[in-house]
Amino acid sequence: MSDKWQSYLRQQAELGGSEVYLAAGQGGRTAGRPEAGDDAASTATQPPSPAAVPWQRGAPPIPGPGLTIDLPAPDLLGDGLGALDSLSAIAERIAGCTRCGLAQGRKNTVPGEGNPSAELMLIGEGPGATEDETGRPFVGAAGDLLTQILGSIGIPRESVFIANVVKCRPPQNRKPLPDESTACLPYLRRQVQLVRPKVILALGATAAESLLGVRKSLGAMRGAVHTYGGIPLVVTYHPAALLRNPNWKKPTWDDVRIARQLLDR
Ligand code: URA
Repeated sequence: MSDKWQSYLRQQAELGGSEVYLAAGQGGRTAGRPEAGDDAASTATQPPSPAAVPWQRGAPPIPGPGLTIDLPAPDLLGDGLGALDSLSAIAERIAGCTRCGLAQGRKNTVPGEGNPSAELMLIGEGPGATEDETGRPFVGAAGDLLTQILGSIGIPRESVFIANVVKCRPPQNRKPLPDESTACLPYLRRQVQLVRPKVILALGATAAESLLGVRKSLGAMRGAVHTYGGIPLVVTYHPAALLRNPNWKKPTWDDVRIARQLLDR
Protein backbone atom coordinates (compact mmCIF):
# COMPACT_ATOMS: atom_id res chain seq x y z
CA MET A 1 0.00 0.00 0.00
CA SER A 2 1.47 3.38 -0.96
CA ASP A 3 2.48 5.89 1.72
CA LYS A 4 -0.07 8.34 0.35
CA TRP A 5 -2.85 5.79 0.65
CA GLN A 6 -1.74 4.75 4.14
CA SER A 7 -1.73 8.34 5.31
CA TYR A 8 -5.16 8.99 3.81
CA LEU A 9 -6.57 6.01 5.67
CA ARG A 10 -4.90 7.09 8.90
CA GLN A 11 -6.56 10.49 8.55
CA GLN A 12 -9.90 8.82 7.95
CA ALA A 13 -9.55 6.71 11.06
CA GLU A 14 -8.40 9.62 13.21
CA LEU A 15 -11.20 11.83 11.99
CA GLY A 16 -13.77 9.19 12.81
CA GLY A 17 -14.55 8.31 9.21
CA SER A 18 -16.86 5.42 8.56
CA GLU A 19 -14.07 3.27 7.18
CA VAL A 20 -11.05 1.95 8.98
CA TYR A 21 -8.34 -0.10 7.34
CA LEU A 22 -5.88 -2.06 9.42
CA ALA A 23 -2.25 -2.16 8.41
CA ALA A 24 -1.03 -5.28 6.60
CA GLY A 25 -0.74 -8.19 9.03
CA GLN A 26 -3.53 -6.88 11.25
CA GLY A 27 -6.32 -8.58 9.41
CA GLY A 28 -6.88 -6.37 6.40
CA ARG A 29 -9.82 -4.01 6.09
CA THR A 30 -12.44 -3.67 8.78
CA ALA A 31 -15.37 -1.63 7.67
CA GLY A 32 -17.24 0.62 10.05
CA ARG A 33 -20.96 1.16 9.92
CA PRO A 34 -21.92 1.40 6.25
CA GLU A 35 -23.28 4.74 5.14
CA ALA A 36 -25.52 5.77 2.31
CA GLY A 37 -23.30 6.01 -0.74
CA ASP A 38 -21.16 3.00 0.18
CA ASP A 39 -21.11 0.63 -2.72
CA ALA A 40 -20.24 -2.97 -3.33
CA ALA A 41 -16.63 -2.10 -4.11
CA SER A 42 -16.19 -0.67 -0.64
CA THR A 43 -16.73 -4.06 0.95
CA ALA A 44 -14.08 -5.80 -1.14
CA THR A 45 -11.01 -7.08 0.67
CA GLN A 46 -8.66 -5.08 -1.54
CA PRO A 47 -8.64 -1.35 -0.79
CA PRO A 48 -9.88 0.61 -3.77
CA SER A 49 -7.58 3.15 -5.36
CA PRO A 50 -7.44 6.49 -3.48
CA ALA A 51 -9.29 8.16 -6.32
CA ALA A 52 -12.24 5.82 -5.69
CA VAL A 53 -12.53 6.87 -2.03
CA PRO A 54 -12.47 10.63 -2.18
CA TRP A 55 -13.61 12.80 0.74
CA GLN A 56 -17.00 13.03 -1.01
CA ARG A 57 -18.11 9.58 0.01
CA GLY A 58 -20.80 9.96 2.68
CA ALA A 59 -20.31 13.74 2.76
CA PRO A 60 -23.38 15.61 4.05
CA PRO A 61 -25.25 17.84 1.62
CA ILE A 62 -24.62 21.56 1.81
CA PRO A 63 -27.04 22.87 4.47
CA GLY A 64 -29.37 25.83 4.05
CA PRO A 65 -28.59 29.46 4.76
CA GLY A 66 -28.00 30.83 8.25
CA LEU A 67 -27.21 34.35 9.40
CA THR A 68 -26.11 37.15 7.10
CA ILE A 69 -23.51 39.60 8.37
CA ASP A 70 -22.55 42.66 6.38
CA LEU A 71 -19.04 44.07 6.60
CA PRO A 72 -18.55 47.81 6.92
CA ALA A 73 -17.09 49.50 3.87
CA PRO A 74 -13.27 49.78 4.16
CA ASP A 75 -13.37 53.52 4.91
CA LEU A 76 -15.70 52.84 7.86
CA LEU A 77 -13.36 50.38 9.57
CA GLY A 78 -11.73 53.22 11.50
CA ASP A 79 -8.09 54.15 12.15
CA GLY A 80 -7.37 54.33 8.42
CA LEU A 81 -7.44 50.53 8.21
CA GLY A 82 -9.32 50.66 4.94
CA ALA A 83 -6.34 52.38 3.34
CA LEU A 84 -4.05 49.46 4.22
CA ASP A 85 -3.82 47.50 1.02
CA SER A 86 -1.75 44.50 1.98
CA LEU A 87 -1.76 41.84 4.65
CA SER A 88 1.77 42.82 5.61
CA ALA A 89 0.66 46.42 6.15
CA ILE A 90 -2.07 45.15 8.49
CA ALA A 91 0.45 42.93 10.28
CA GLU A 92 2.70 45.95 10.81
CA ARG A 93 -0.19 47.92 12.22
CA ILE A 94 -1.09 45.04 14.53
CA ALA A 95 2.53 44.83 15.74
CA GLY A 96 2.21 48.31 17.24
CA CYS A 97 -1.37 47.94 18.47
CA THR A 98 -2.32 48.98 22.01
CA ARG A 99 -6.09 48.95 21.52
CA CYS A 100 -6.69 46.62 24.48
CA GLY A 101 -5.03 45.25 27.59
CA LEU A 102 -3.73 42.13 25.80
CA ALA A 103 -0.95 44.27 24.34
CA GLN A 104 0.75 44.41 27.75
CA GLY A 105 1.27 40.68 28.16
CA ARG A 106 2.26 39.69 24.65
CA LYS A 107 5.65 38.52 23.45
CA ASN A 108 4.60 38.70 19.81
CA THR A 109 1.52 39.68 17.93
CA VAL A 110 0.03 36.90 15.81
CA PRO A 111 -1.56 38.61 12.81
CA GLY A 112 -2.20 35.45 10.80
CA GLU A 113 -0.41 33.87 7.89
CA GLY A 114 -0.89 32.03 4.65
CA ASN A 115 -1.77 32.52 1.06
CA PRO A 116 -2.89 36.14 0.48
CA SER A 117 -5.22 34.93 -2.27
CA ALA A 118 -6.50 31.91 -0.40
CA GLU A 119 -9.84 30.45 -1.38
CA LEU A 120 -10.29 29.16 2.16
CA MET A 121 -9.77 31.35 5.22
CA LEU A 122 -9.73 29.80 8.68
CA ILE A 123 -10.48 31.88 11.74
CA GLY A 124 -9.66 30.78 15.27
CA GLU A 125 -9.98 32.34 18.68
CA GLY A 126 -6.60 33.75 19.63
CA PRO A 127 -2.96 32.85 20.13
CA GLY A 128 -1.85 30.39 22.78
CA ALA A 129 1.60 30.12 24.37
CA THR A 130 3.42 28.68 21.33
CA GLU A 131 1.74 31.14 18.98
CA ASP A 132 2.78 34.00 21.31
CA GLU A 133 6.37 32.71 21.28
CA THR A 134 6.54 32.30 17.53
CA GLY A 135 4.17 34.95 16.20
CA ARG A 136 2.49 32.25 14.07
CA PRO A 137 -1.11 30.99 14.29
CA PHE A 138 -2.04 27.41 15.05
CA VAL A 139 1.32 25.89 15.80
CA GLY A 140 1.60 23.08 18.32
CA ALA A 141 -0.73 20.12 18.74
CA ALA A 142 -3.93 21.93 17.70
CA GLY A 143 -2.13 23.30 14.65
CA ASP A 144 -0.92 19.84 13.66
CA LEU A 145 -4.46 18.53 13.89
CA LEU A 146 -5.70 21.46 11.83
CA THR A 147 -3.12 20.67 9.13
CA GLN A 148 -4.29 17.07 9.18
CA ILE A 149 -7.96 18.05 8.91
CA LEU A 150 -7.17 20.21 5.89
CA GLY A 151 -5.21 17.35 4.34
CA SER A 152 -8.20 15.06 4.75
CA ILE A 153 -10.15 17.21 2.30
CA GLY A 154 -7.20 17.57 -0.03
CA ILE A 155 -6.23 21.10 0.98
CA PRO A 156 -2.57 21.87 1.74
CA ARG A 157 -2.14 24.18 4.73
CA GLU A 158 0.05 26.53 2.65
CA SER A 159 -2.89 27.20 0.35
CA VAL A 160 -5.15 28.71 3.03
CA PHE A 161 -5.01 31.86 5.14
CA ILE A 162 -5.23 31.39 8.91
CA ALA A 163 -6.12 34.19 11.31
CA ASN A 164 -7.62 34.66 14.75
CA VAL A 165 -10.21 36.96 16.27
CA VAL A 166 -7.64 38.43 18.67
CA LYS A 167 -4.04 38.87 17.64
CA CYS A 168 -2.46 38.81 21.11
CA ARG A 169 -2.48 35.97 23.63
CA PRO A 170 -5.06 36.23 26.41
CA PRO A 171 -3.49 35.43 29.81
CA GLN A 172 -3.70 31.74 30.76
CA ASN A 173 -5.31 31.14 27.37
CA ARG A 174 -8.63 32.42 28.65
CA LYS A 175 -11.37 33.29 26.20
CA PRO A 176 -10.94 36.83 24.84
CA LEU A 177 -13.17 39.34 26.64
CA PRO A 178 -15.86 41.00 24.53
CA ASP A 179 -14.04 44.37 24.55
CA GLU A 180 -10.81 42.66 23.42
CA SER A 181 -12.57 40.95 20.51
CA THR A 182 -14.36 44.15 19.60
CA ALA A 183 -11.12 46.14 19.61
CA CYS A 184 -9.37 43.58 17.39
CA LEU A 185 -12.19 42.74 14.98
CA PRO A 186 -11.49 45.60 12.51
CA TYR A 187 -8.12 43.98 11.69
CA LEU A 188 -9.83 40.70 10.90
CA ARG A 189 -12.47 42.43 8.82
CA ARG A 190 -9.80 44.16 6.77
CA GLN A 191 -7.96 40.85 6.38
CA VAL A 192 -11.15 39.25 5.07
CA GLN A 193 -11.65 42.16 2.65
CA LEU A 194 -8.12 41.76 1.30
CA VAL A 195 -7.98 37.97 1.07
CA ARG A 196 -11.54 37.82 -0.23
CA PRO A 197 -11.72 34.04 0.23
CA LYS A 198 -14.37 31.92 -1.39
CA VAL A 199 -15.22 30.26 1.94
CA ILE A 200 -14.58 31.06 5.62
CA LEU A 201 -14.31 28.33 8.24
CA ALA A 202 -14.86 29.56 11.81
CA LEU A 203 -13.04 27.34 14.31
CA GLY A 204 -14.89 27.15 17.61
CA ALA A 205 -17.65 29.04 19.35
CA THR A 206 -15.58 32.14 20.16
CA ALA A 207 -14.65 32.75 16.54
CA ALA A 208 -18.17 31.98 15.35
CA GLU A 209 -19.82 34.24 17.96
CA SER A 210 -17.48 37.14 17.20
CA LEU A 211 -17.96 36.86 13.46
CA LEU A 212 -21.70 36.33 13.56
CA GLY A 213 -22.30 38.82 16.38
CA VAL A 214 -24.42 36.39 18.41
CA ARG A 215 -24.15 34.49 21.66
CA LYS A 216 -25.12 30.92 20.85
CA SER A 217 -23.84 27.44 21.43
CA LEU A 218 -21.57 25.95 18.80
CA GLY A 219 -24.28 23.40 18.07
CA ALA A 220 -26.73 26.17 17.27
CA MET A 221 -24.29 27.84 14.88
CA ARG A 222 -23.25 24.67 13.02
CA GLY A 223 -25.40 23.11 10.35
CA ALA A 224 -26.02 26.23 8.27
CA VAL A 225 -24.10 28.20 5.70
CA HIS A 226 -23.89 31.73 7.07
CA THR A 227 -22.83 34.68 4.97
CA TYR A 228 -20.08 37.02 6.16
CA GLY A 229 -19.50 40.04 3.97
CA GLY A 230 -20.99 38.08 1.09
CA ILE A 231 -18.74 35.06 1.75
CA PRO A 232 -20.15 31.66 2.78
CA LEU A 233 -19.12 30.87 6.36
CA VAL A 234 -19.17 27.42 7.96
CA VAL A 235 -18.81 26.88 11.70
CA THR A 236 -17.01 23.91 13.18
CA TYR A 237 -15.25 22.77 16.34
CA HIS A 238 -11.94 24.24 17.41
CA PRO A 239 -9.05 21.77 16.90
CA ALA A 240 -8.03 22.15 20.56
CA ALA A 241 -11.55 21.02 21.54
CA LEU A 242 -11.14 17.98 19.29
CA LEU A 243 -7.98 17.06 21.15
CA ARG A 244 -10.01 17.08 24.38
CA ASN A 245 -13.05 15.33 22.94
CA PRO A 246 -12.40 13.03 19.97
CA ASN A 247 -16.18 12.47 19.61
CA TRP A 248 -16.30 15.82 17.86
CA LYS A 249 -13.96 14.68 15.09
CA LYS A 250 -16.76 13.12 13.03
CA PRO A 251 -18.98 16.24 13.05
CA THR A 252 -15.88 18.29 12.23
CA TRP A 253 -15.14 15.99 9.32
CA ASP A 254 -18.71 16.62 8.11
CA ASP A 255 -18.32 20.40 8.48
CA VAL A 256 -15.07 20.56 6.56
CA ARG A 257 -16.56 18.46 3.80
CA ILE A 258 -19.35 21.01 3.56
CA ALA A 259 -16.73 23.76 3.32
CA ARG A 260 -14.92 21.74 0.67
CA GLN A 261 -18.12 21.40 -1.38
CA LEU A 262 -18.65 25.16 -1.15
CA LEU A 263 -15.12 25.67 -2.46
CA ASP A 264 -15.85 23.39 -5.39
CA ARG A 265 -19.10 25.10 -6.31
N1 URA B 1 -3.79 28.82 18.11
C1 URA B 1 -4.30 29.84 17.42
O1 URA B 1 -3.58 30.50 16.67
N2 URA B 1 -5.58 30.13 17.57
C2 URA B 1 -6.36 29.48 18.38
O2 URA B 1 -7.54 29.78 18.43
C3 URA B 1 -5.80 28.42 19.12
C4 URA B 1 -4.52 28.11 18.96
